[in-house]
Amino acid sequence: MEQNYGVPGISLVKGKGLYVWDDSGKKYLDFIGGIATNVVGHADSEVIKAVNLQIRKLGHVSNLYSNPNGLELAEKLQKMVGSQTKVFFCNSGAEANEAALKISRLTGKKKIISTVGSFHGRTIGALSLTGQSAKRAPFIPLLNGVKFVPYGNIRAMERAITPRIAMVIVEAIQGENGVVVPPEGYLKRVRELCDARGVLLCIDAVQTGMGRTGTWFGFEHEGVVPDIITMAKGLGGGLPLGAMLTVGEKVPHFLPGQHGSTFGGNPVSTAAGLAAIKVIESKKLMKSALKMEKSIRSTISDLDEVDVVRGRGLLLGIVLKKNVAHEVVAACAERGLLVNATSEKVIRIAPALTVTAIQVSEFSSKFISALKEVAANG
Ligand SMILES: *Cc1c(COP(=O)(O)O)cnc(C)c1O
Repeated sequence: MEQNYGVPGISLVKGKGLYVWDDSGKKYLDFIGGIATNVVGHADSEVIKAVNLQIRKLGHVSNLYSNPNGLELAEKLQKMVGSQTKVFFCNSGAEANEAALKISRLTGKKKIISTVGSFHGRTIGALSLTGQSAKRAPFIPLLNGVKFVPYGNIRAMERAITPRIAMVIVEAIQGENGVVVPPEGYLKRVRELCDARGVLLCIDAVQTGMGRTGTWFGFEHEGVVPDIITMAKGLGGGLPLGAMLTVGEKVPHFLPGQHGSTFGGNPVSTAAGLAAIKVIESKKLMKSALKMEKSIRSTISDLDEVDVVRGRGLLLGIVLKKNVAHEVVAACAERGLLVNATSEKVIRIAPALTVTAIQVSEFSSKFISALKEVAANG
């Protein structure tokens, strides 16, 4: 194996709902959910059923043919957006952003505005949009023409967005950067600036999509509709699936042959995605996510070790007062709880939207115990 992830200490072999088991039989409460991917939990019966049925019937058709699942999912996504939408399916978030980047070139303009601290993926194109120098540095030269402005800073956007810009790409919440939430009204103002200056607005909803923040998309609370939306992570209900959605009439479109993906939108991943959406709808999981957010916040926000809890719905960043996030992650794992550190100070949690009140209490007691142990050792 390449050493790009470091050496993972835990090898997981089984999952059910909010729980996973490692190869020694140890059980963990999974509060990172495949990095915001397992929206309906592990081994959901509807997802299993849909995948099973589909793989028996037809596993792959390529992009030479259409398939009903892809069309049905595209229709579902259009309904979520609430306006005329065209969908390109791919397999990952990086590919979705690559597609957005390529489509922005069809405006005839080449300059792009992105934000400092953003994360848009690891391919050369997506990395060129990513505002994290440590991830970029070993791979320069990257694409020219991408300007990074401080996230959440509307003045900086006002200065940077000119009619010569092809596209602005921004996350509704910066997930990989530690769940950073922009000030109220930020996305709305960026939308207005893009409209006034004839610039496309792409919101990267890879991490904040699929109900994670209590609405289908992380930007809905500001009432904005982007021109381009990129999705992945939760979209496939645990299977690899990405999408780029173009909304309305302003976005140029690919001509036949200009873009593609052999596996993109394959019948099995789209079946899983459709099943996940149906589970989110029928179990009212977005409403539940907001309720669970409240109870998570109420149990951990006031702890001595916690500076602030930021985020929305079930994408939360717990900012610690001390640089001990990695120690806390290890102490949680010892106690059978999986969470993730995005930096020395920030713990990210992104449990499945199916998480219950009882599981939230289990999380709190394990998390608090881990925090206290690390504090006592420090
Ligand atoms: C994870 C992520 C990506 C990249 O997705 P991959 O599927 O890993 O390529 C892009 N944008 C955001 C906001 C993400 O969180």
